[in-house]
Amino acid sequence: MKPFLLTLLAEGSFTLVGRYAPSPTGALHLGNLRTALIGWALSRQGGGRFVLRFEDLDARSRDPFRALQLRDLAALGIDWDGEPLVQSSCIGRYEEVFAQLKAEGLVYECYCSRRELSQVASAPHTPPGAYPGYCRDLTPAERAGKREELSKVGRGPALRLRSNQETLTFTDAVYGPQTGVVDDFVLRRSDGVFSYNFVCVVDDAYQGVSQVCRGRDLLSSVARQNYLHQLLGSIPPNWVHVPLVLNQKGERLAKRDGAVTLEQLRACGIESPQVISMLATSLGFPPAKTAKEFLAHFDLGKMSHEDWRFLPPR
Ligand code: GLU
Repeated sequence: MKPFLLTLLAEGSFTLVGRYAPSPTGALHLGNLRTALIGWALSRQGGGRFVLRFEDLDARSRDPFRALQLRDLAALGIDWDGEPLVQSSCIGRYEEVFAQLKAEGLVYECYCSRRELSQVASAPHTPPGAYPGYCRDLTPAERAGKREELSKVGRGPALRLRSNQETLTFTDAVYGPQTGVVDDFVLRRSDGVFSYNFVCVVDDAYQGVSQVCRGRDLLSSVARQNYLHQLLGSIPPNWVHVPLVLNQKGERLAKRDGAVTLEQLRACGIESPQVISMLATSLGFPPAKTAKEFLAHFDLGKMSHEDWRFLPPR
């Protein structure tokens, strides 16, 4: 049990706290909006708080898109509590938690290149997608040698978590019991940027998040994130992964797919009430013109589990 995050949690209340955590790389598209609407409805229906977080450690352009994304959410009638957390303003906290893990001997340097890692899939006895631990047990002399080799090409090591578990089982509210991989995942990349899995867990604990609603493409991150919650002594949230919006080709919807943002849809004559109505019917609920109406009909148990293929208007 680590005192730092426990203290933060003890200060929080025990009401339901849901969150939406977009990466501010542009306007929100229908897939983002659908997930946000479900997360919002779940929190409000449970009488809980709904908080926002901008995951901008990787985003190139930050500020304009934060404001735009807030406008997109507000245009659908999705409201939130408090000021959104902005990850790029939280580096000090990440450093602090990272230092704790390091002090406990739970961090090690990894010198593997992308090419080496792309061959991992064929490594024996390693579950698909898991890091096989090539750099886990190197001797100090081996480390020094690898570090020097890397510095010649201007690279630094990545920093990985020394985990002592291979899988973890949990229950998702939509997709049911799951077993996922826990490997020595990256905490901090070789360019010094903290990893998604690491900051996601630190932030969910810090924001007192008790329920995470996000796209089903992130289901495979849960085992690693739950494991880190355990290490940090924080309580993992309840997981609610939701089906995706797909493009014509059956791939996850992206901005390049055409008229998929509110502004683009508006330009095609589709206003917010119609957008909510499309989202509601795509989830198996009656058409609703406002977020409030959507909320009145929302029932997670009756929600469609199917991905939704969206054909953008021309
Ligand atoms: N920032 C991620 C995204 O926009 C979501 C991560 C999460 O909800 O844990 O897809």
